Amino acid sequence: MGLPFPIDLYDSISSEICRVGERMWRQGFCAGSDGNISARLDDDLIIITPSGVSKGDMRADGMCVVRVDDGSLIHGPHPSSERAVHLAVYRARHDVEAVIHSHAPRSTAWACTGEPLPEGIHPEAELLLGRIPLVPYVTPGTGLLAEATGRALTPHTAAILLGSHGTVTVGDSLETALARLEMLESYCRLVIELSLLGRMRRLSDAEMADLLRLKRETWGMGDDRG
Ligand SMILES: [Zn+2]
Repeated sequence: MGLPFPIDLYDSISSEICRVGERMWRQGFCAGSDGNISARLDDDLIIITPSGVSKGDMRADGMCVVRVDDGSLIHGPHPSSERAVHLAVYRARHDVEAVIHSHAPRSTAWACTGEPLPEGIHPEAELLLGRIPLVPYVTPGTGLLAEATGRALTPHTAAILLGSHGTVTVGDSLETALARLEMLESYCRLVIELSLLGRMRRLSDAEMADLLRLKRETWGMGDDRG
C-alpha cells in the first residue's frame, strides 16, 4: 500500500526541517537531543522530528508523519515526546504552518524565573513578537502541557515561554518560526543584560500606542494589546 501523502512534499519539507535543526544546533539552542520541529504536510498531517536525535544531525528520510486529530503515527520512527504541544497549536491555529520547541538558553533562563517577560523595552520585539505569554510550569511530555499551551495561544501569538522549561514559536513557515525563536532568544538576552545593569527604561504609554498603531496600520499586523 502506498503512503497517504505525496513523497515529494514529504522530502522537501523534511529537508527544510533538517536545515532549520542544523541552524538551531549551530546557535546552541539544542543540547543533546533537545528541541523539536514540525511543519504541516496538509490539513490533516504534520511532519515532526523523531525522538532522541540531535537537531544538528538529522536525516530527511527519518522524519515522522503524525495525524493532527488524534496524534497517531502514520510513518517513520518514534516521534518527539512533545508532539502533543505541537498538535495543540495546529488544532488551535489553522494559520500556523510550523512549530518549534526549544530550550534556547537565555529564553529558558528567563522561563525559569517563572515571571512574564517585561514588555515595552524594545520596539523590534514589540513589532515582531508582540505579547509573549508565559505558561505556568506543567510536567513536560504530558497532555496537561499541551492543553495549557493551546489555551495560552491567541490569534496573534508568535512565541510562548513554557515556565521552567523552554520556548514555543510558531509561524506561517519554518523560516518564520525559526526567525521568531532567534528574536525571542535575542530579546531574552537583552532583558537579562538589563537586569544585570539594574536599569531598564520602559517605553511610555504614548510611545507604545504609536508603535502599535504603526504595527496595525502600516504593517497590517494584529496585536493582543489592540
Ligand atoms: Zn522541552
